[in-house]
Amino acid sequence: MNLIFEIGKEGRGLSLLPKCDVPQTDLPEKFKRTTKLHLPQLSENEISRHYTKLAGRTHGVNDGFYPLGSCTMKYNPKVNEFAASLKGFTRLHPLQEEKYAQGALEVIQMTENSLAEILGMDSFTLQPAAGAHGEFTGLLLIKSYHTDRGDTKRTKIIVPDSAHGTNPASAAMCGYEVISIPSAEDGCVDLDALRDAVGEDTAGLMLTNPNTVGLFDKNILEITKIVHEAGGLCYYDGANLNAVMGQARPGDMGFDCVHVNLHKTFSTPHGGGGPGSGPVGCKAFLADFLPGARVTGTPEEGLKLVGAPKSMGLVKEFYGNFLVVVKALAYILTLGKEGIPEASANAVLNANYMRVKLSKKYEMAYDTTCMHEFVMDLAELKHRTGVSALDVAKGLLDYGIHPPTMYFPLIVHEALMVEPCETEPREVMDEAIEALLELYDTAEKDPEYLHGAPHKAVIGRPDELGAARNPVVRYTFED
Ligand SMILES: *Cc1c(COP(=O)(O)O)cnc(C)c1O
Repeated sequence: MNLIFEIGKEGRGLSLLPKCDVPQTDLPEKFKRTTKLHLPQLSENEISRHYTKLAGRTHGVNDGFYPLGSCTMKYNPKVNEFAASLKGFTRLHPLQEEKYAQGALEVIQMTENSLAEILGMDSFTLQPAAGAHGEFTGLLLIKSYHTDRGDTKRTKIIVPDSAHGTNPASAAMCGYEVISIPSAEDGCVDLDALRDAVGEDTAGLMLTNPNTVGLFDKNILEITKIVHEAGGLCYYDGANLNAVMGQARPGDMGFDCVHVNLHKTFSTPHGGGGPGSGPVGCKAFLADFLPGARVTGTPEEGLKLVGAPKSMGLVKEFYGNFLVVVKALAYILTLGKEGIPEASANAVLNANYMRVKLSKKYEMAYDTTCMHEFVMDLAELKHRTGVSALDVAKGLLDYGIHPPTMYFPLIVHEALMVEPCETEPREVMDEAIEALLELYDTAEKDPEYLHGAPHKAVIGRPDELGAARNPVVRYTFED
């Protein structure tokens, strides 16, 4: 497919600029460009066709099933987009006087309060722009706490080996040494390994629960107790809250601070690198260190922005990705107190429905009731037929289904991690189950066919490593 720069024709450009209504002045010579300005010149019709064609070559939740484990690619109701597109929100300037931005401040306050209730925290900041950014902010809260108490010998963060890769990366970014502890046989935290790892140098623990293999750690209260008794704090990676929202609260599990990805659980489209949001919540004793200005007061007496007394400063400009927050609030208010636990219950039901049906042929990494996602282990299939998790994933593309997450978590070597989400009807899951079972048979009968998959997709097997390490993101013009 040609790039937009390659399909234009000189003079066909479309310019709808209004007449200039300010005096024209000449730019100083040194600021004038010396090379040709390469703007694509196309009619509106051609532009529209170009982008429609491009959209047809991608796969999104609106095209079909997208069971990408850990990512919660659920359907995002359009009413949330409508709320976020209201002019009262989109045309607001972040430096607008408080008295003219009361509605926006109320949105921030309501969202912070709702998240605090769902997660069992006391305060929230909506500044961080993504999950990893939230982790970084949360760890700075932990660091601020220890530093403020003059407890400077705490230099280590404990992270289980099943953790999302961003956890150790965020800890390292905060200047912490990462202590990785192995998981027990059952995929949960090994309590003895944790007891051995904690000490006077423990700043904290980072944990996802349910963890990345989709299991709820039954020892969670013991885990947070062990860390607290050693003087460390507990950080909850709530990037993906789809199994527990309205059911269980990290605050009640003993966690001191958390982040949650609005662009996973709280219904903001993601996957294409669009704006995200990773709010961070904490217990009251950490609130003084939160970044940015906090909304205080009541709508009746007028809401105000006040900085926290020992704030770590800003982690992002202004109030974070505000329109994503509007979508999350719309989502929370639409579902309400009954709908939120119902959504997580359905997410868990859907995952278990698929898990049980697929375990007719596929081996499960952990053969037990799962939460919102489950991990299949294709090591035996690969050993026997040569067909890998990657081959099966590529094969699924020919069925018009987005593959599950591959090769994560790292503790399962030929992993396919499936998260159907609560927004899929049974028929869609049945089709995917059918496709996966058929692929299993193909692996046994005709492994070569799967080594060559996909056979019908727009592209087959791009050099992913090359694309990540040496991306070519610049177009070179001939003149
Ligand atoms: C997605 C995810 C993250 C990272 O979130 P980003 O917004 O991609 O930075 C961290 N932890 C877990 C468990 C996740 O699923």
